[in-house]
Amino acid sequence: MAPSLSPIRSHHVAVIGAGAAGLVAARELRREGHSVVVFERQKQVGGTWIYTDHIEPDPLSVDPTRSVVHSSVYGSLRTNLPRECMGYRDFPFVVRSGVSESRDPRRFPSHGEVLAYLQDFAKEFAIEEMIRFDTAVVKVAPAAEEGSGKWRIESTEKEKKVLRDEIYDAVVVCNGHYIEPRHAEIPGISSWPGKEMHSHNYRIPEPFRDQVVVLIGNSASADDISRDIARVAKEVHVACRSNEADTYIERPGYNNLWMHSMIECVHKDGSVVFQNGKTISVDVIMHCTGYKYHFPFLETNGNVTVDDNRVGPLYKDVFSPAFAPWLSFVGIPWKVVPFPMFELQSKWIAGVLSGRIPLPSKEDMMMEIKTLYSTLDAQGIAKRYTHQMGISQFEYNSWLASQCGCSETEEWRKEMYFATGVKKRAHPETYRDEWDDHHLVSQAYQDFSLY
Ligand code: FAD
Repeated sequence: MAPSLSPIRSHHVAVIGAGAAGLVAARELRREGHSVVVFERQKQVGGTWIYTDHIEPDPLSVDPTRSVVHSSVYGSLRTNLPRECMGYRDFPFVVRSGVSESRDPRRFPSHGEVLAYLQDFAKEFAIEEMIRFDTAVVKVAPAAEEGSGKWRIESTEKEKKVLRDEIYDAVVVCNGHYIEPRHAEIPGISSWPGKEMHSHNYRIPEPFRDQVVVLIGNSASADDISRDIARVAKEVHVACRSNEADTYIERPGYNNLWMHSMIECVHKDGSVVFQNGKTISVDVIMHCTGYKYHFPFLETNGNVTVDDNRVGPLYKDVFSPAFAPWLSFVGIPWKVVPFPMFELQSKWIAGVLSGRIPLPSKEDMMMEIKTLYSTLDAQGIAKRYTHQMGISQFEYNSWLASQCGCSETEEWRKEMYFATGVKKRAHPETYRDEWDDHHLVSQAYQDFSLY
């Protein structure tokens, strides 16, 4: 006798955010037969890729009442992944024929090209008809009927000044994680007279002309922005916690850009003292120190918390066991190739919600999460690195693909990711314009011809 299949169920699902994660989540949910409403507080799709000249009134972005500018993208930003590797699996990020000349055909294109790609994706799959633009979600909480599994969502539509209070079967959170800045602690900063800011509010180098600037951080942003600013600034100094205490290196190719160890302290005469013993007089300190997960609208009675930047407990970085499968998150892991991972996470969520893909029991999910936390503890890995993946992303993607019954990450994509990492470390100035992985590019385009 053939095994009986459980019936596929369709649900009313809210997706919060229409960035790269929310767009593909909406597509996968609808493909699975769910009815979907996407809430997006901006006027268009694209999330962080919607570049704007605007910055927040508070340059450190610490004031909780500030008006938030979503994008963290700066004017000169080009992708740090090659476009073949970066795109969704079944909608390759290729140069499209018949589109306007304003598109950027480079392999590591500018931010505008990524936005155009996301707009193309939304158009191709008619995602916009599911989106309520200009509509911010202000509260997500379990609906009053205890144990119903349903969610109450309060949202405000700016232009029409409409406040809505609605019930959904499930919520998929795709609100992005590059909005709420983290800052370095600097001894003496309260009496230091210079200007402090976060890279979230950096757009162009011009305001730093003839200034002495210290950037804190060792991320892609610190790397890009330090070189961007060095074109006009008097001096640029990059302080980094992970550098040896005696680090003091002039960056090759520059006569005004230095790498240091971390800042030791700052003084009220405007000076900054580094752990390497150097002291300089500084105009601006820019924190390129990353962001915190932040879900200001989410009320879960403590079932989902953010503790030292660990969002938890979450099974496989996606489902909250307490509310599974009715509350899920797309895009929590970092140090990854985001778009294809979002696609797999979304397929998994859509299939689990319809009952096609089984989830373990709550107890088993919690047990797995506890084991993960103990392993991280035993390895001395701080909570804030819980969602950092790097190499392990491909094992994670394989697991997701096996759950969804779809093919694994292509070999060329993995190799391209590693090859780009090596090239970036060796040649940070030129890796976006000179590369050796031509054979991988050919393999990618062979695959793309299938779509
Ligand atoms: P977002 O793009 O941030 O979208 C979230 C959306 O949710 C936004 O549109 C926002 O308006 C909406 N939203 C938030 N809160 C609410 C609310 N309460 N109500 C309604 N709507 C809400 N990735 C790469 O692949 N390659 C790169 O080269 C690369 N470079 C990057 C450079 C920078 C400076 C940054 C910040 C990120 C970079 N990334 C890169 C990572 C990038 O964040 C991801 O590629 C991806 O765009 C994240 O998509 P998302 O949908 O998770 O978040």
